[in-house]
Amino acid sequence: MADRLTGGATPGKREHSKHSGQHCQQPPYGQHPPAPCEFAATGLTAGETLGVDLRSWLHVHMELSQAARRLRSVAVSAAPATPSPESPLQGGCLCGAVRYEVNAPSVVARYCHCTHCQRRTGTSSSANCLFPRASFQLLSGAEQLRAYKPPTGVPKLFCSTCGSALFSGDPFSDEQVVIRMGTFDADPGIRPQYRQFVGSAATWEPIPEDGLPRYPGSHST
Ligand SMILES: [Zn+2]
Ligand SMILES: [Zn+2]
Repeated sequence: MADRLTGGATPGKREHSKHSGQHCQQPPYGQHPPAPCEFAATGLTAGETLGVDLRSWLHVHMELSQAARRLRSVAVSAAPATPSPESPLQGGCLCGAVRYEVNAPSVVARYCHCTHCQRRTGTSSSANCLFPRASFQLLSGAEQLRAYKPPTGVPKLFCSTCGSALFSGDPFSDEQVVIRMGTFDADPGIRPQYRQFVGSAATWEPIPEDGLPRYPGSHST
């Protein structure tokens, strides 16, 4: 009788096919079911329960990802890596051959609008940091490092493989080494404090109105 009504499968058997579990076996048609299993208790099939669990898991995953991003941003903004012997700041060229580190705070940071900086970096100005030579150490890439010595001014050092502009001044003999800020791996803990050589600033880009002091030529602090 039951088979004729249900096409060969009782309602209990059809429901049971949606999930498994020892205590979920359905009674013969017409009998009371045993104690409800967890799926029956929620009124959901296994597939529906899995859907709810998956959505919950995705929600938790998204919450954790967002929290991790917030923590990373706080860590970056709250703790700029002022270089020290305990926490040196590293950097390098684009291809990775030349690597260096400094282990003391920068003496000064500045924008330079001189024509040398424009030519060698291909930009309207160059953001540079000065460091005492004693705080500088070349970690790798001595064989790739080349120096261009212009008729005036200090040597300009670059990577001969990728062309990255890295240093001004000879980092192995001069009192100070000027490092292009774009080559740092992390926040150096200092911001550009003035603009020098604005007398030769590029005509194609206005100097930003950032409130920094401007000097027509060279300036040292
Ligand atoms: Zn390189
Ligand atoms: Zn310059």
